Amino acid sequence: MKSGFVNIIGNPNVGKSTLMNVMVGERLSVITAKSQTTRHRIFGIVNGDDYQIVYSDTPGLIKPAYKLQEAMVKAARSALSDADILLYITDMMETIDKNQDILDLVQKSKVPLILIINKIDLSNQQEVENAVIRWQEIFPKAEIFPCSALFKFNTDNLFKRILELLPESPPYFDTDALTDRPERFFVTEIVRGAILENYQKEIPYSVEPVVEEFKESDDIIRIRVVIYVERDSQKGILIGHQGSSLKLVGTQARKDLETFFGKKIFIELFVKVAKDWRNRPDLLKSFGYEI
Ligand code: GDP
Ligand code: MG
Repeated sequence: MKSGFVNIIGNPNVGKSTLMNVMVGERLSVITAKSQTTRHRIFGIVNGDDYQIVYSDTPGLIKPAYKLQEAMVKAARSALSDADILLYITDMMETIDKNQDILDLVQKSKVPLILIINKIDLSNQQEVENAVIRWQEIFPKAEIFPCSALFKFNTDNLFKRILELLPESPPYFDTDALTDRPERFFVTEIVRGAILENYQKEIPYSVEPVVEEFKESDDIIRIRVVIYVERDSQKGILIGHQGSSLKLVGTQARKDLETFFGKKIFIELFVKVAKDWRNRPDLLKSFGYEI
């Protein structure tokens, strides 16, 4: 039996969550075009007859500007310390000098390192070859995989290589588990994803959805979510004229939840103000952040 932790790290927006979902084969992580979509570490588990791969997707490695971001960075850094295999993801657009302290940590790490150059669908062969040479100089020990997570290009080979590198070990989780996170967690992630796609500027970064009710019966799941915002003004924007904006969020979240759970969904959304929650340790803790 082979089992181990495969931790995915990299700067925001390079495609970490997209790749993790391809590797796990389920839509576990929220993916959108805005950066900092992923706030927590999420495990995605792939079970085979004689292996268990525990992927973890992390928030991007950003410089923290407020308490919430400190918790996000802590979660990302913890991924460096407990990995059996590290997947460092970059993409064809990223410039190399962005994050020297993280590069140093990755270079010093003793675990096998796979460097993924993602989004190669956006460039040509020559550019990809140049990028491989550039990155090989920075990480001489890394194995480099040019990939397109979006088009699942080269992800099969990546999977095979991960299996080869996986250490001998009994499984860490139930062999029928898909993730360590409860269903409620995915509800909040999906609602947050819908908010990210429907609002501009600071709104998506100021909300925290909390599931207050999750009742599953044979043919339907009834869900009630309270969306916390930092200020009254944000509450108004989130709800919109006569509730029109929040309605869009509800509709999209319902569709995404129906896809995720494979069941009919009834969802109610409420908005409440939790003043300045992103900087309040008590509230951050109650929302499940480790600070
Ligand atoms: P993360 O912040 O690193 O987790 O990045 P996401 O997985 O959320 O992806 C950020 C954006 O990049 C989304 O719009 C994705 O659709 C897009 N993306 C991810 N992988 C690829 C890829 O292989 N090719 C292209 N063109 N876009 C991608
Ligand atoms: Mg992400």
